[in-house]
Amino acid sequence: MNRSDIIRLTEEIGFLPEQKFGQNFLCNEKISGSIVDLCGISPSDKVLEIGPGLGSLTSILATKTSDLTCIEIDKRLAEYISEAFGCNVISQDYLKVPAEQYNASEIDVAVSNIPYYVMTPIIKKLLTDLKNVRILTLMVEKEALDRLLAAPGTKQYGPLSIICCLFGEINVEFDLGGDNYYPAPRTVSTVFTMKRGDNAGIIDQDFLSFLEKAFMNRRKKLTNNLDLDKDRVTACLISLGYNANTRAEEISAIDYIKLYNGTR
Ligand code: SAM
Repeated sequence: MNRSDIIRLTEEIGFLPEQKFGQNFLCNEKISGSIVDLCGISPSDKVLEIGPGLGSLTSILATKTSDLTCIEIDKRLAEYISEAFGCNVISQDYLKVPAEQYNASEIDVAVSNIPYYVMTPIIKKLLTDLKNVRILTLMVEKEALDRLLAAPGTKQYGPLSIICCLFGEINVEFDLGGDNYYPAPRTVSTVFTMKRGDNAGIIDQDFLSFLEKAFMNRRKKLTNNLDLDKDRVTACLISLGYNANTRAEEISAIDYIKLYNGTR
């Protein structure tokens, strides 16, 4: 769908985009096609889209698979998407939808032009819920990408960058200027893909809670943040080449797997 299609559609269904839901709709058909191509969808794939909006990506996704589930917070849009594309639509805030309600462990491919105000919780939920997803193709604000790709020892390094790193291969694909959206945001966005790798299996709610505790107070030693036996944590840190004073941000993503398993 191009700009004129999006504007016509908003008029037809009497819809005014809401900033509070991050409603900036893609209006460049060529780019929407490239984003969907990055997913490498086969007809038998179960595909999930978070926030379909007016269907810029949904209209193409629906031609690639007959098993498409969309989760949309805005009831007016959810109703429109269900009628226009006949896919399975859950009209709710994604963050409140239990994994079982959308058969999360069966999803093969996930796509989202992520509403920026909830980027971190949405990515955390996608990575903990989708136990068997092969690829995620996502759009985020370009400046937020640093938080996803942050390296140990940096300010941005934390639970989000650790689970992204452990999930597998991340490829930054291309940037999108505000003129590709209606209404146009002031920021640039980036499209990236995440392909499942060998360490993805560790990511679940329990592992994420462990990481969140580890980073609860960045200035404290890790042994003081974790509510686990201090001697056990210290012994594990030493066996991994760290020491009793090590802070959360000094530990690599791979070593977090060993620390988690070693202190269970
Ligand atoms: N996918 C469409 C596109 O690319 O044009 C719309 C993208 S727009 C940036 C974000 C969409 O996510 C909007 O349709 C908005 O209503 C929806 N949304 C916002 N917060 C949401 C949430 N917590 N759960 C589900 N959908 C949400």
